[in-house]
Amino acid sequence: MKFVLATNNKKKLAEMSRILTPLGFDVVTAKEIGVDLGDVEENGTTFTENAYIKAKSAFDLVNGQYCVMADDSGLCVDALSGKPGIFSARYGGEGLDDVGRYRKLLEDMSEIEEGKRQAHFACSICAIMNDGTVITAEGKCEGEIGFAPLGDGGFGYDPIFIVHDKSFSQLSDEEKDMCSHRGNALRVLKEKLEKYLEVQ
Ligand code: IMP
Repeated sequence: MKFVLATNNKKKLAEMSRILTPLGFDVVTAKEIGVDLGDVEENGTTFTENAYIKAKSAFDLVNGQYCVMADDSGLCVDALSGKPGIFSARYGGEGLDDVGRYRKLLEDMSEIEEGKRQAHFACSICAIMNDGTVITAEGKCEGEIGFAPLGDGGFGYDPIFIVHDKSFSQLSDEEKDMCSHRGNALRVLKEKLEKYLEVQ
């Protein structure tokens, strides 16, 4: 089954491809099929709503000729009442890059002591099959926010998100995929897709 991945984030694309390919799905980027995803206004109030908005926009662009898949994800910090949450990509304002955003988060958490820095990554995935059927799945990964960036792999908030004493940036691709919010969501999605295919 061929899926068009509705993301322009190269690191996310690589992550989704390396998890989906061994699960038996062929993945192509929108660019590979000559489709420009453009900027989609993510005005949902949940990760699931935003994943649907991105998937539906891509689905309309490919005219139902392909199945599409989009994810929406973010970091939720307990001590900040779940922030940055769905605003993770814009935390601290539009001008910041990944490093600027995680530095801002570390700054905002400078008063929060060890033991009170729990957080989780959340991911919602939305697949729209070429017959228009919508299939969604959610995944989480629990961890905590470190006091300084560690490691140089990954993307986004990876250097400050700690799971079992290592930051996401210090994990190999395989280790991250095994426990990440995106990996967990994609494994749930796989089961749902298999059920969907059984009744076709
Ligand atoms: P989205 O592209 O709207 O889903 O934005 C997600 C935001 O959360 C971006 O700022 C990402 O950098 C961040 N994010 C999502 N997943 C991860 C991850 O696996 N590691 C680090 N940051 C992530």
